Amino acid sequence: MTEPSGDTICAPATSPGRAGVGIVRLSGPDARSIIGRLTGVEPRPRHAHYVEIRRRDQPTTLDDGILLYFPGPHSYTGEDVVEWQGHGNPVLLDAVVAEMIGCGARMARPGEFTERAFLNGRMDLAQAEAVADLIEAGSVQAATAARRSLTGVFSTRVDAFVEHLVHLRMYIEAALDFPEEEIDFLTDTRLRDQMESLREELAELLSRVGEGLRLREGLQLVIVGRPNAGKSSLLNQLAGESRAIVTEIAGTTRDVLRAEITLDGLPVHVIDTAGLRESRDPIEQEGIRRAWEEIDRADLILLLIDGQRGRSADDEATLARLPDKPVLTVINKVDLTGELADERVEDDTLRLSARTGEGVDALRNELRRIAGVSDHNQDTFLARRRHLEALETARAALDEAADSLVHGAGELAAESLRRAQSALEAITGRYTADDLLGEIFGSFCIGK
Ligand code: GDP
Repeated sequence: MTEPSGDTICAPATSPGRAGVGIVRLSGPDARSIIGRLTGVEPRPRHAHYVEIRRRDQPTTLDDGILLYFPGPHSYTGEDVVEWQGHGNPVLLDAVVAEMIGCGARMARPGEFTERAFLNGRMDLAQAEAVADLIEAGSVQAATAARRSLTGVFSTRVDAFVEHLVHLRMYIEAALDFPEEEIDFLTDTRLRDQMESLREELAELLSRVGEGLRLREGLQLVIVGRPNAGKSSLLNQLAGESRAIVTEIAGTTRDVLRAEITLDGLPVHVIDTAGLRESRDPIEQEGIRRAWEEIDRADLILLLIDGQRGRSADDEATLARLPDKPVLTVINKVDLTGELADERVEDDTLRLSARTGEGVDALRNELRRIAGVSDHNQDTFLARRRHLEALETARAALDEAADSLVHGAGELAAESLRRAQSALEAITGRYTADDLLGEIFGSFCIGK
């Protein structure tokens, strides 16, 4: 791991002008002296000072505002941090930053404050990622979940799991190193129980991470249905007040390919297959190529049928072209056919009316169920694809370990557990030196 650099960085920390306040942050060993030189004030830790900020070599006052000082190591980055809050004029902010650079600071790279926080052990990698996710979150639910990741809800779970994993490994390695401990890999129930509870714990963590990932990335939905089946009407019903945001492929005003809706905080990306047709227009072709990429990642295909007309040959042809995914059949326009709307999905079919909204709640619930997003889960945390992949690697390794144990192969089991562990430690970025022997001696009673 690289050591944090000894230089002082500065950067404007808000979009200037928007909120009327402009923030400039400084972090590093010279943060305090630089701000002292520009304001003439020796800031007290965690106090708000009202000061004027000047050019370094002239008596010209640039701006007035609030100065905050957070000495390291108990600051965001773990270094001395100074925050200057002035007026949100971008010209003034640039001038303040230029003065700081003139005093020896340098412009921070994107994410460098958080990177320093990570390098200084103020947060782990998953928490650092949550900072970015919190800023980018598109809904209050996603932002709240990102904040939970930031406070370490996710990392703590991963750490706890790694600890249990290490425990099991130590037990196995001890049996290998000290055969007189007489652990029989084939019959030892403690071993089997531990392995079983690890697999359960991991399965639970995986489902929670899947949920967190969906909240971040959203549900990918492909909608199939002939013109006038009611696709737009249905999307608008689902989206509720926020209405569907539809994007047209650049260069064409014909069919719309994509819609984005938000379902109680869950982003749903909809691809309308009506837009997928042969085209000679290169721009349109590119849009269609990208749509296919997204279709490959689809979670669900929604076949929308006009209840008065039934399934069409076109629908069947489109379905045949699509990858093998779960299909939910939605029969629309029950207000015209006189059928009753369904309150829940049965046999992968649902009847509703996109016009009156009858039955739409059942669809909404089904989509949330498929996304794995539970309604009132206070512990949801936001996760990324790399976390899910790491957990899946760990699961495969754990399965291998269990298999090795069944065959009495302790060495192989320990090796698989080691792989599971490093996959998981990559989540929090905690690549500690693997001093397993020391751990064994430390926790096993050797003298007996
Ligand atoms: P799309 O071409 O599949 O996007 O279909 P639209 O959403 O544009 O709907 C086509 C027509 O069917 C419009 O006139 C809608 O008002 C109408 N429509 C859509 N859903 C329903 C429904 O559930 N009941 C009734 N009566 N009309 C509907």
